[in-house]
Parts: sequence; C-alpha cells; structure tokens
Amino acid sequence: MYLEKMFGLNGKVAIVTGGGRGIGQVIAQGLAEAGAEVVILSRSGAEETVKLIAEAGGKAYDLKADVTDETQVDKALAEILERSGSIDILFNNAGICMHQSTLEATVEEFREVVDINLTGEFIMCRAVGRIMIERGIKGSIINMASMSGTIVNIPQWQVSYNASKAGVIHMSKSLAIEWAEYGIRINSLSPGYIATPMSVDVPKDLIDAWIPLMPMHRMGKPEELIPAVLYLASDASGYTTGSDIIVDGGYSVQ
Ligand code: NDP
Repeated sequence: MYLEKMFGLNGKVAIVTGGGRGIGQVIAQGLAEAGAEVVILSRSGAEETVKLIAEAGGKAYDLKADVTDETQVDKALAEILERSGSIDILFNNAGICMHQSTLEATVEEFREVVDINLTGEFIMCRAVGRIMIERGIKGSIINMASMSGTIVNIPQWQVSYNASKAGVIHMSKSLAIEWAEYGIRINSLSPGYIATPMSVDVPKDLIDAWIPLMPMHRMGKPEELIPAVLYLASDASGYTTGSDIIVDGGYSVQ
C-alpha cells in the first residue's frame, strides 16, 4: 500500500514528448502502468506506443505537435485539457543530437539542436507551467537532460548537444526555484548512453569506442530509466525539486 500511495499515478494525466520511439516510448509505458493517462506529443505520431499501452490495459492517445512551435503546443495542450481535464506530469523528452566538429558545423545546425533540445523544452515547460499555475495543479515536470550536460563525450564532437543539455539542467533548477511557491516541482534526468535509435544508429566503430569507456561496459536499457522517472513524477519525490538525477552506469564519475 505504501509503495502504491507514494509511486502510484492513478488519476494523473502525463504528457510525454517524443514518445513515439526510444526512451519516450518506454517511459510512456511505465507511466501508464503506474496508472497515469498518457498523452504522447511528437511530430510524426505515436500509434505504436498508444497500441502497446492499450494492449497492456493502460490509457493513452497521441497528438502531433512540434515542441519548437508555440502555436502547435498551445493547440495540443488545449485539446488535452478538453479530453483529459488536467495536466499533472510533463516528461519533456523530445530531443536530437548531431555529431560534428565545431569547425565543420554550421550555425544553423547549432541553432536547430538548441532550438529542439533547450528552447523546445522551455516552450513546453512554460505552456504546461502556466496551466498548472492557473488551475492550482501541484504538478511535476521532468526535463530530459543528459550526462552530456555535465561531461564532454569522446571521441565524437557534439558541442551543440552538450551545450543544450547543460542548459536544460540549469533551466530546470531556475524554474524549480521560480515555481516552488506554486508547488510545481521541476527536476532533470541525465542518462548516460541508452540503447535507442539515437545512440545505436551510429557507425559501429563509434559504439566500439564507447564501450570500454563505460564502467559497466554496456549501454543502459530504456527501461532502466523508468524507476527514476516514476520517482520524479510521483508523490515519492514530494520534497525533491531542482535536482538532476544521473543514471549513467557510473560514466560521469570517472
Ligand atoms: P530518439 O531519437 O529515439 O527519439 C527522439 C524523439 O523525439 C522522437 O520520438 C522524435 O519524434 C521526437 N522529437 C524530435 N524532435 C521533436 C520536435 N521538434 N517536436 C516533437 N518531438 C520531437 O531519441 P532517444 O529516445 O534516444 O532520446 C530521447 C531523449 O533522451 C532526448 O532528449 C535525448 O537527448 C535524451 N538522451 C538520450 C540518450 C541516449 O543515449 N539515447 C542519453 C541521454 C539523453 P518525431 O521525429 O516524430 O518528432
């Protein structure tokens, strides 16, 4: 009973951005299994995730929205309020990564990564936070950062990604303080290498270079992030805000 009371999400409405595949898809299933109604936002739809959740007996639907577009985000959030009546949890997960040396990267490419990873998360935080404040919802926002917000990955160069994720960590701390008086908690999650399309669809010699650098000599699995997200999403973390939870198999300790 204690675990259900602390970690259960019955009656909560949770948004997962970028939940059509990868980490977002697995976390969406975890949130649904804990009892939340899950709404997935992505640019290309998330029918497969919705089907997986429905097959497991959970509740979910998907809406198309680009997190960098305020008009699309506001339209999607209005539809969620209409259909589900609340927004209690935001797992702000959508993101991209580009590997390139700084001298080869263009400013447009740098802007694109920062626009999705940092500004997109800001747009989602602000729009959801505004709704929570107006309605007196004491919600939880979990912003997807990365260990790359703290360490510099090698051997690939990815300055735009690293800078965007460092920004996410400090944006989360800033919002945690700004919105503490409303009872809204904002934390970030910083995984190490997790096996998803983003990290696996790279040249094999890159993965071969990463593995010896990992203390556990393996990538994490997306499902290994579910417990940390459930902790941050639920009442279990009622006194946790402005924290960055690192789940990286010890990578950033070295
Ligand atoms: P994937 O590439 O597998 O999934 C990313 C998701 O984001 C897709 O569903 C994509 O859907 C969505 N997305 C991208 N841009 C937008 C946008 N503008 N608006 C809405 N949705 C968008 O990535 P992962 O699952 O690996 O990564 C998820 C998050 O975790 C990212 O923020 C990533 O930086 C972070 N992370 C990943 C790690 C890893 O090793 N995999 C490690 C640490 C952090 P669509 O294209 O349909 O919009």
